[in-house]
Amino acid sequence: MSQDLFQAPDYYQLDDLLSEEHLLVRDAAREWVKRAVSPIIEQAAQEAKFPTSIISGLAEIGAFGPYIPEEYGGAGLDQISYGLIMQEIERGDSGVRSTASVQSSLVMYPIWKYGNEAQKQKYLPKLASGEFLGCFGLTEPNHGSNPGGMETKIKDMGDHYLLNGAKMWISNAPFADIAVVWAKNEEGRIKGLIVERGMEGFTTPETHNKWSLRASATGELIFDNVKIPKENILPNKDGLGAPLGCLDSARYGIAWGAIGAAMDCYDTALRYSKERIQFDKPIAGTQLQQKKLAEMITEITKAQLLTWRLGVLKNEGRATSAQISMAKRNNVDMALTIARDARQVLGAMGITGEYSIMRHMMNLESVVTYEGTHDIHLLITGFDITGIQAFK
Ligand SMILES: Cc1cc2nc3c(=O)[nH]c(=O)nc-3n(C[C@H](O)[C@H](O)[C@H](O)COP(=O)(O)OP(=O)(O)OC[C@H]3O[C@@H](n4cnc5c(N)ncnc54)[C@H](O)[C@@H]3O)c2cc1C
Repeated sequence: MSQDLFQAPDYYQLDDLLSEEHLLVRDAAREWVKRAVSPIIEQAAQEAKFPTSIISGLAEIGAFGPYIPEEYGGAGLDQISYGLIMQEIERGDSGVRSTASVQSSLVMYPIWKYGNEAQKQKYLPKLASGEFLGCFGLTEPNHGSNPGGMETKIKDMGDHYLLNGAKMWISNAPFADIAVVWAKNEEGRIKGLIVERGMEGFTTPETHNKWSLRASATGELIFDNVKIPKENILPNKDGLGAPLGCLDSARYGIAWGAIGAAMDCYDTALRYSKERIQFDKPIAGTQLQQKKLAEMITEITKAQLLTWRLGVLKNEGRATSAQISMAKRNNVDMALTIARDARQVLGAMGITGEYSIMRHMMNLESVVTYEGTHDIHLLITGFDITGIQAFK
């Protein structure tokens, strides 16, 4: 990839809405992405390899558990700082942000919120430092948008549980040290449990040949009579609301992250359009390209405002799941549209790894699907405003 010349757009001077701490955290993450992610990410994506070299850096910028209290190794930051870190990481690559999101919101969050003190002490500091990487097993071969139908089961054997079933499309699965897994007990109640690599009967085959999120490893979780010690059950919440609570936190981070990907595509297209001469003038001087660029910055600015407000509500404990759905859906769709338009601005150069746009575009095809698809989030908004469920 050519040199990272990224300059973040701030058309409405939204930095004025951020505190000194927000700016410090954001700028540290921005600088780290330029230094540690940009130089290696294109090759990692081309080779479909998760770049393990970035794990310690992710921990250092507070990307593993940004809002987890410091007593458990987290960064103890607020929700806006968390969002800004995700924005900067996804400016680099959605796959890297996925690793940070899974670790923070889908592994550390449930242990922090639903776990007991011993579980928090045992796992959270190691996850925060990057010594342990985790994954989150909710989706199954037959249950994606409808996780409540899950077939993975635990059976009470007296001194332990026996876990059977399979999870699919699991980020970080191939190398995760622990998995937070959702399974039904004999009464059909969904429980969260911590499965550790090395437990007999637990395997994590990798999913190959993805065209999207190539720098993030994806795999299956297979459970064949895995003995789960009783102390590995998350005791403090069960039912579908438990995994959905984790998804709220991750979806919130994705809403911010998508802005990062969009900013990178816009900034690249703007710079390229001013330098690329056709018909004796920069293509930036044509009305058609200006339309694309003007619409990009308008949509980015709207998404920044929506997401900042959501962050304020989240800090106050007032953000609803439906509000988070709206931001995730809007911002990922916005980023995908901008990536597609930006790629066109670059003409043939847009399909190469010289520029980040095509990688963002392909990555966003996963982001628009995982953590609730574009359509499912629309149904969540529809349900929220009408009170009528349209899922079935
Ligand atoms: C790269 C990647 C990483 C992932 N990482 C994880 C992870 O770490 N952990 C995890 O648990 N999962 C993960 N997922 C899974 C992801 O969350 C699911 O793919 C997603 O929830 C959609 O499920 P599905 O693919 O089975 O699609 P389906 O549920 O089969 O949906 C297919 C289509 O039907 C539509 N649809 C479904 N129901 C309705 C309805 N009622 N009305 C109208 N339309 C409907 C959907 O919107 C979609 O367009 C990942 C997926 C990808 C691609």
